[in-house]
Amino acid sequence: MCQYLPKLLWIYLPKNKLLEYDHNINGDYMEYKSIWQNNNERTTLNKLKDNLTVDVLIIGGGLTGMQTLYQLRNSNLKIALVEARKIGYDTSLNTTGKISYLQGTVYQELTKRYSLSVAHHYLESQLEAQNTLVDIIRKNKIACDLEKTPSYLVATNTKELKKVKKEKEILQKLGINVSEENITYNEDSAYALKVTDTYVFHPLKYLNALTNLCFKKQKNIYELTKIIKIVKKEQYYQCYTAKNYILAKKVILACHYPFFIFPYLFPFKTSVEKSYISASPFPNQHYSAITANKAPISIRFQKDNMLYLTKSSPICNNLNESKNYQELKKKVEELGLSPTNLWKNTDIITVDKLPYIGYITKNNPNLLIGTGYNTWGMTNSTLASLILKDLVLGNSNRFTNLCNPLRISMKDTFSLTKNLGYSLSGFLKSKISKNKDFYQNVIIKNINGKSIGIYQENGKTYQVYNKCPHLGCSLIFNAKEKTWDCPCHASRFTKEGKCIKGPSCYDISYKE
Ligand SMILES: Cc1cc2nc3c(=O)[nH]c(=O)nc-3n(C[C@H](O)[C@H](O)[C@H](O)COP(=O)(O)OP(=O)(O)OC[C@H]3O[C@@H](n4cnc5c(N)ncnc54)[C@H](O)[C@@H]3O)c2cc1C
Repeated sequence: MCQYLPKLLWIYLPKNKLLEYDHNINGDYMEYKSIWQNNNERTTLNKLKDNLTVDVLIIGGGLTGMQTLYQLRNSNLKIALVEARKIGYDTSLNTTGKISYLQGTVYQELTKRYSLSVAHHYLESQLEAQNTLVDIIRKNKIACDLEKTPSYLVATNTKELKKVKKEKEILQKLGINVSEENITYNEDSAYALKVTDTYVFHPLKYLNALTNLCFKKQKNIYELTKIIKIVKKEQYYQCYTAKNYILAKKVILACHYPFFIFPYLFPFKTSVEKSYISASPFPNQHYSAITANKAPISIRFQKDNMLYLTKSSPICNNLNESKNYQELKKKVEELGLSPTNLWKNTDIITVDKLPYIGYITKNNPNLLIGTGYNTWGMTNSTLASLILKDLVLGNSNRFTNLCNPLRISMKDTFSLTKNLGYSLSGFLKSKISKNKDFYQNVIIKNINGKSIGIYQENGKTYQVYNKCPHLGCSLIFNAKEKTWDCPCHASRFTKEGKCIKGPSCYDISYKE
C-alpha cells in the first residue's frame, strides 16, 4: 500500500539559503497558478448590461453558487447568478479537489465540543453531500476525472497517533467501516486509518460542465458582474453593480467572504486560513492522505501529477510570500519532485468546525448565505446547495439547524476573541511590515496624505493605494504573483490595482 507515502510525509526543512529562481530542479519553468487551469479555458459569459428583476439572485459563481443554481434550475422561480470575475476562478479553482467525509479529526472535535450525536449528524450531512455530488456527475455524465480512491488519516508522531486512534474509534461508533495500516518511513513507523469510499475530481472541469448545463435552462448567468452594495427596498433587495442594479426578492450570498460588515460581523465569526500547494509530475497513485496535525500535509494524485499541500496558517502569519513559495518549492524538491505549478488558497474557518448555511439575520427569510467550510468545501458547498434550495422553496431540511449561521454559544467567546485578534494582528503587521525587504522593487510613499504603493517592472511604474478598501489594512506586495494581498481577510489586487478577490469589491488604482 501507499509505497510513496513514507517518503512524501518525511518533512525535513533545513534552514540553509533558499533557492532564488523560478525553475524547478529539471530547469523547467514554473507557473504560479493552480494546475486545474492548465488547458481548461471556457469562453467568458456576458456581463450584466441592463437592470433586472428576479425572484432569487445568487451572488458568486464558485461551487456554492453554481450548485445552488443547479438545484433550483427546475423551479418556477426567475433566478439570476452574478459572478464578479469568471465562474470557478476563485477559491474553488485553487482547491485540492478531494471529495471526502474523512476530514482530519473533525468528528472527535465535534464530539468534544457538542456530543457524539452532533458528530453523527455532521457525518450524515457529509455522506449525503458526497453522494449528491457524485450522483450529479454520473447522472449528467460530466467528464471531470471523478475517481473513487481510499483516504488515509496519518499519524507521524505520538500526539497525532492518539488523535488518529480516537478518530477511528468515533468513526466506528458512527458505523463507518475503518481499517488501519502501519506505514514505515525511514526507521520510523506511522499509523494510518483508512476509509475506502471517498473520491477525487477535477473541480474546474466539473464547474465548467455545470455552467454549461445551467446556462441551457437559465440564461441569467453573468460573469464580470460584481455586486458592490445591497439595499433593502420594501419587499426587494436592490443589488447594485457599478452601472446597473438587480431587484431580487431573495438574495443568496455564495461569495465566500461577504463584502459587507453588518449585519453579520463576519470578521468576528470566522478566521481565514491560507495554505500552499504544489503540483509535480509523478506516476499516478490511487489514494489521498492527510496528516492529523493542525498544519497538515495533504496529498492527492491527479493523473500523472502529485498535489502536495503544506504551510497552513492563519492569514495574518508568514507575510513574506516569496519566502513561502521558496520554502514550499524546496520542501517538494527535497522529496525528489520537480514542481510545475505552485499556488496558494484561502478558506474560511468557523468557530466550531460546522459550516454557516442558512438565514443571515433573524426573522428574515430573504437573505441567505453558504460559507465557512473549514477547507472541506467540496462536500459542504454541495450541502449548502441542498439546504439553500429547500429554504428558498420553503421545504424542510434535516441539516438546517446543524448549519444555522446564527448559532452562538458561550463556548464561542474564546474563538470569537481569537478571530478578532487575527484581524487586529493582520492589521498591525501590515502596517509594521510596510518597508520590509520582501517588497522587491516596491516602495511605499506618502503622497498628499495617502499611502501609495509604487511597483516598478521593466521600466514601467504601477501605483496603487496601499490600503484595503474592506477594513483599511495595509497591503503586502506578493513579488511572486505580482499582486497586492491583504493579510487580514484575503482580498487581492493586481499590480495595476484591480480587485481580483474579495471581500473588497473596490479597485485600488492610483493616478496622480
Ligand atoms: C488550500 C486549500 C485546499 C482545499 N482543498 C479542498 C479539498 O481537497 N476538498 C474540499 O472539500 N475542500 C477543499 N478546500 C475548500 C474549498 O476549496 C472551498 O471551501 C470552496 O471552494 C469554497 O467554494 P465557494 O463557492 O464558497 O467559494 P468561491 O469558489 O470563492 O466562490 C465565490 C465566488 O463569488 C465571487 N464573488 C465574490 N464577491 C462577489 C461579488 N461582490 N459579486 C459577485 N461575485 C462575487 C467570487 O469571484 C467567487 O468566484 C480547500 C481550501 C483550501 C484553502
